[in-house]
Amino acid sequence: MKLNLTSMTFVLAIALMGFWNPAQAQNKDLPNVVILATGGTIAGASNSATNASYSSGQVGIQTMIEATPGVEKLANVTGEQVSNVGSQDMTIDIWLKLANRINELLKQDDVDGIVITHGTDTQEETSYFLSLTVKSDKPVVMTGSMRSSTSLSAEGPLNLYNAVAVAASPEAKGKGVMVALNDYIHAARDVQKMNTTNVAAFESPIKGAMGTVFYGDVKFYRTPTTNFGKTSIFDVSGVTSLPRVDIIYGCADLSGDILPMHVKAGAKGIVIAGVGNGNIHNATLDAGIDAVKNGIPVVRSAKVPSGYVLRNGEVIDDETGTVASGDLNPVKSRILLMLALHANIPQSELQELFNNY
Ligand code: ASP
Repeated sequence: MKLNLTSMTFVLAIALMGFWNPAQAQNKDLPNVVILATGGTIAGASNSATNASYSSGQVGIQTMIEATPGVEKLANVTGEQVSNVGSQDMTIDIWLKLANRINELLKQDDVDGIVITHGTDTQEETSYFLSLTVKSDKPVVMTGSMRSSTSLSAEGPLNLYNAVAVAASPEAKGKGVMVALNDYIHAARDVQKMNTTNVAAFESPIKGAMGTVFYGDVKFYRTPTTNFGKTSIFDVSGVTSLPRVDIIYGCADLSGDILPMHVKAGAKGIVIAGVGNGNIHNATLDAGIDAVKNGIPVVRSAKVPSGYVLRNGEVIDDETGTVASGDLNPVKSRILLMLALHANIPQSELQELFNNY
């Protein structure tokens, strides 16, 4: 058939409207991976390759895929732009949209895994939120970069390549949401950003990484032990907001009026980023005991990046009514408490929840 201008325009229009899925025309022997782009430094750009200053979320997903040579040999890759923000501007609204979109995509037989490109600042939060709310065994792998796309030695393309390799790997099934950055694969629950600028910014204190990925070669050494995915009780389908939970950062002589100000401003739960073993100046502890009595749960976590916050350590939680977060850091404790409050889990059951999630 000879294509004239009108029929070519029609074919193009159909393709652009999304009725033609390029993945279908690709390699049937390869898994299908969808990349959901949210922004971050991996999509950032600067006017100089040697300038530390740049803007996050400038480059679209198609450009990022094109900048990752060889990815087409790992999987049939398609991209969707969910947002394009620096992850310091990540919102609960975007989290809910992401979780619902991922659940929808992973129900499809022609989707085998998901990669999410995301800023590194709040990647540990988004990954933990998704690990509790995505109900599938199929791999969900987050990645990002510390250097913008225009930087000298930008590591974004290799991180994206490796993330697709993990999402396409059969061993990644059933491991929950993962963060693949700088050749390591971390469990969403354990990973933390530990350095403000270095490419080796991510670590999993206490437990270590789950595996490694080196130029697409995937190796796993462990599986997460807490609840996630199908064993998580949390369901956010149709949910449009979550109860407000605020974090209070511990320090010497912390003013006792800060916690009540948060409650007055509308917080339905409080997380303490405590000093040491989840300790807090006694003025704030007293305010926390009052909050607990008024039905506002208070979780004791720690600003110290590694170690457990023990129940009944220096603070006797059995008497104060507070909850000890274990090794769940303050930002992740906030997410678990928001989901618990949304699910109407009573205060008396929160310690059990924190022990198992
Ligand atoms: N501020 C950036 C972000 O989180 C940092 C990064 O992506 O590395 O989006």
